[in-house]
Amino acid sequence: MEFTSTRNNALRVSAAQAIVQGLSEEGGLFVPTSFPKLDVSEVLDLDYCALAARVLGGFLTDYDPAFLSAAARQVYGEAFGGKAGQVAPVADGLYALELWHGPTCAFKDYALQLMPRLLVEAKRMLGRTETTRILVATSGDTGKAALEGYKDIPGIEIEVFYPTGGTSEIQRLQMATQQGENVAVYAVRGNFDDAQTGVKKVFGSAAIAAQLAAENVALSSANSINWGRLAPQIVYYYYAYARLVQRGAVRLGDAVDFCVPTGNFGDILAGYYAKQMGLSVGRLLCASNKNNVLTDFLTTGVYDANRAFYKTQSPSMDILVSSNLERLLYHASGCDSAFVADMMASLAAEGRYAVPAGIMEKIRADFAAGWADDGQAAAEIAARWQDDRYLCDTHTAVAFRVARNTPGHAPCVVLSTASPFKFPAAVLAALGQPVPQGDFDAIRALSACTGAAAPAGLAELESRAERFGQVIDPADIPAAALGRL
Ligand SMILES: *Cc1c(COP(=O)(O)O)cnc(C)c1O
Repeated sequence: MEFTSTRNNALRVSAAQAIVQGLSEEGGLFVPTSFPKLDVSEVLDLDYCALAARVLGGFLTDYDPAFLSAAARQVYGEAFGGKAGQVAPVADGLYALELWHGPTCAFKDYALQLMPRLLVEAKRMLGRTETTRILVATSGDTGKAALEGYKDIPGIEIEVFYPTGGTSEIQRLQMATQQGENVAVYAVRGNFDDAQTGVKKVFGSAAIAAQLAAENVALSSANSINWGRLAPQIVYYYYAYARLVQRGAVRLGDAVDFCVPTGNFGDILAGYYAKQMGLSVGRLLCASNKNNVLTDFLTTGVYDANRAFYKTQSPSMDILVSSNLERLLYHASGCDSAFVADMMASLAAEGRYAVPAGIMEKIRADFAAGWADDGQAAAEIAARWQDDRYLCDTHTAVAFRVARNTPGHAPCVVLSTASPFKFPAAVLAALGQPVPQGDFDAIRALSACTGAAAPAGLAELESRAERFGQVIDPADIPAAALGRL
């Protein structure tokens, strides 16, 4: 299987090259040149690890299948407590695909636990001997999931930068207590943009790259535009569909809708890829919070990032530019990389682009969209608990609301992207309970009022020693990246 670029479809690279490189030289994203077909009837009985190896093998044809099988077992076996891809029935025709049973209690673990192994193997195959230094600016979930994925991986170092004022207490402690010999965590004075701008400057600096090259170090990022982060997310669409067949909820070939709480458009795009591979996906419902730029795009065909930015109770969806949409534009336009380059130039220059009606029609054949604000999401948390005894987090609640408000006939699977215990104060408030001051008291209160147990990884944070307390200025980020702090 070869990969090409959304902005230059004459380019051909292997999967290993796409994973090591991350972004194509002209700024495009790597996409597969075709989609391997996989009939779900062939994989109904596979466990999650075996299915993951099978799906990944279709794209990563330059990797040894034995390597992929072993990596999938290491990643999705014990670390997910036997609950990788778990599907929970919620109400009639409504299911939750619980993607938060991994080490950091958010769905990003699926990609970020596997990605480091794919990267190390790709470097080996390509004969690359440099040290890879991963820099991550994070407002929460990505930083912790990346730290947990890359810790103690040979040939890789990781540095995470989070804003002093921008994370929850739990998210901060998840990072400050991180284990591993190759990790560093810095609190950056300011907000997320200050941290992100600082990291972007480092990536854009030829001087820093040259200094690091002299030390045999290459910088890389862990963000969700790398193909190595997308591929692992296709697996759970297949797995969930197979579970519904086995339950007798659908017959083979029946359409199943998936509703996805969306930020950077990576998770939902994996569902589109599953459909291209032959899975009977009905509609993909794109659920947004008040930052509803994607709802507007799918409704009007105009993507316009020139708008107010809202901080919401579903922070991982607080995004105005959804990078992975570029890949959908490429596929829906019939692999027209000149068109995509044009749209992206317009986005860079004016913060907006308009997609022709013919292409929007194709996109709307697969996607529908809706959004919910914080109040509606809170009401949804309460309703799902009161009516169905199903407890969900603030991100998943947005998707439940959109799923229930979008008319349709097919069974619908909501992708549940974070544990409710990751956002205990907001969930308690939604349930109409008093909210204690600290996050850990909130976790205990949420357990007490619902009878649900908090994931061990979150509860034990309270007693863990903090390893990283360094607070730096944005101007210090280059020195940190050079290893001179
Ligand atoms: C990252 C994240 C999302 C959004 O996923 P995208 O792939 O960026 O669309 C949704 N919910 C949670 C909890 C997340 O961490």
